[in-house]
Amino acid sequence: MRPQVLNPLFAETETLDGVGPKLKKPLERLGLRRVKDIAYHLPERFVTRRVINTVDDAGEGEQIIVKLTVTEHRGGRGGRTPYRVLAQDGAGNVIALTYFGRASFSAKKQLPVGTTRWVAGKLERYGDMLQIVHPDHVVEEGSDTVQRLCEPVYRLSEGLTQPKIAGLVEQALATAPELPEWIERSHADATGWPDWREALRLAHRSEHSEARNRLAYDELLANSLALMLVRADNRKRMGQPLRGDGSYRGKLDLPFPLTGAQKRSIAEIEDDMAQEAPMLRLLQGDVGAGKTVVALEAMLIAVEAGAQAAMLAPTEILARQHYESVRRMAEPTGARIALLTGRDKGKAREATLIALLDGSIDIVIGTHAIFQDKVAYRNLAMVVIDEQHRFGVGQRLMLASKGKRAPHVLAMTATPIPRTLTLAQYGELDVSKLDELPPGRQAIDTVVMGPEKIGLLVDRLAAQMAEGRQSYWVCPMVRETEGPEEIAAAEARFASLEQRFGSDVVLVHGQLSPETKDAAMERFARGDAKLLVATTVIEVGVDVPNATLMVIEQAERFGLSQLHQLRGRVGRGSERSVCILLRGDTLSETARERLSLMRETQDGFQLAEEDLRLRGGGELLGTRQSGDTPFTIASLEQMSQLLPKAYDDARVMMERDGGLEGKRGEAARILLYLFERDFGVRTLRGG
Ligand code: ADP
Ligand code: MG
Repeated sequence: MRPQVLNPLFAETETLDGVGPKLKKPLERLGLRRVKDIAYHLPERFVTRRVINTVDDAGEGEQIIVKLTVTEHRGGRGGRTPYRVLAQDGAGNVIALTYFGRASFSAKKQLPVGTTRWVAGKLERYGDMLQIVHPDHVVEEGSDTVQRLCEPVYRLSEGLTQPKIAGLVEQALATAPELPEWIERSHADATGWPDWREALRLAHRSEHSEARNRLAYDELLANSLALMLVRADNRKRMGQPLRGDGSYRGKLDLPFPLTGAQKRSIAEIEDDMAQEAPMLRLLQGDVGAGKTVVALEAMLIAVEAGAQAAMLAPTEILARQHYESVRRMAEPTGARIALLTGRDKGKAREATLIALLDGSIDIVIGTHAIFQDKVAYRNLAMVVIDEQHRFGVGQRLMLASKGKRAPHVLAMTATPIPRTLTLAQYGELDVSKLDELPPGRQAIDTVVMGPEKIGLLVDRLAAQMAEGRQSYWVCPMVRETEGPEEIAAAEARFASLEQRFGSDVVLVHGQLSPETKDAAMERFARGDAKLLVATTVIEVGVDVPNATLMVIEQAERFGLSQLHQLRGRVGRGSERSVCILLRGDTLSETARERLSLMRETQDGFQLAEEDLRLRGGGELLGTRQSGDTPFTIASLEQMSQLLPKAYDDARVMMERDGGLEGKRGEAARILLYLFERDFGVRTLRGG
């Protein structure tokens, strides 16, 4: 049970003054559901302002506070004309306060002609006019708001304003209790880190790096501790040594010889699985390196040893595809293979569940449905997780708790993960690398095109289709999880392409009914449809060798690794393939650099490194890559700086303090609950 001291932090946001149903929505859009989420909603940055008497003393682009007297209102005549309030500073200079859209209503109220106001905001030039667009503050003379020379800037969503969120943060901080210290005294002293509550307060006040680091460290420590607790629990339960006799693997129908890297990885896995300690191994291999067949061999080892194996895919589409290809290859072996997804209902599902329980299914492939509570196995001893970065730690743990003994786990990813990241996601784990692509793969020509070429591009598509070749068209990504804007973009693109190509085009996105989505995917996979318009749901794993053209719209919005994943959907057959990066009208420097890197290299490892470098460089990408890190407080930079230390500290706590015993252990327990890593605590009790 959650320690009582944390209760105020875990209260709903509605317990704060001013939060009702209306404000709840925009808060939730930011992921802020409880008081603690608001307390941890740290500023994105701070603005520092200067009080000036006249704009003559200020530079363009400067954040200023100035006293202005309102002289005139110029109403926007609808459309694109903004609403302007003209005002004079002490020296008689005229400055326009410019408002777009509904913001003009508040301008009318706050700035009647003839009044004098303190105005804070960024001074800009527009033609030969000086202006402040949407001032941050407009206050009457004598108000103390003017004193805020340094002010936090929070991430907002529609319906929220800076003052509103700042007010909520203020309240949330006031409810924050004193917590016992979980950080080693000597470490806190050496770094000058404030205690938890003080750190939280300071982090909202200014760019206080000690405070920020402490809060990040807390999160990293909580995560490291939780992983270690789970690992300790796993070890206690022991795994099942699995030795195969090759009877199934020998009958596999592979249309190709294995590469050296595949053979080596299989040998490493085989060694691990023969041990009593449960395997925890990551199989890293670039897109198209052939991870599926490695997984299949590993699963057959389990079958040969008389146990069951399961393969977890991140999406329905991928689960189906894996099922088809695994079944095809494994047909002659006689292994009994089933597909289980959230979509299976009623009798069919019952039958599968019974077969899993009585052992008449050897291998099950599916989405997370295969690890739901109701699903029980006769003897599950081996688990493969495909494209693991899609899964949260929670899901991995849920699956590890399935058997009486801990199953051997093979996680597979095409995204090369730096060590700090694997440490964050798994703790220590072993890695096998597929550093060799199957022979005969051709480089994919990568071309960047401006939006004006879209007509030509569509003609090229037509030619491609006339030759019987297939293509993908991926629509822009607006945020991490697919939202209405992505769907709308894909639907609009689909509508226009459908006008030209009719039923040769199919559409797939996350909000279609599963049946519709499947039907579309199947038509495309069979070759009945020639063009697949999609959101990023097709990002991982889909394998249609006849597809040779990939169009990615607004490619600059995607991260490098993601573009690489998407590009990897083509170039899977013997035909030459092309990837077209359709860019938007204007590009930032970093975006330009990203697109040209894509043109220059096909090496996923290099792209992943560059990705980290570019992001480390500060520019916020249009999109965050899904599941990059399991952290919400610690940045990438803080992670690489502080994680090794946090990990070591967690180990010391585990070894010296026997997990969560004693006084410091009590504090650590609070920490785990604070960061919702309390499943670690639960394994302690369960074991
Ligand atoms: P990924 O590593 O991206 O998951 P897949 O397992 O989907 O890659 O394999 C990509 C394609 O390469 C598949 O069509 C697969 O049949 C093929 N393939 C896998 N291994 C080999 C090999 N050794 N030689 C030739 N083709 C291979
Ligand atoms: Mg794959």
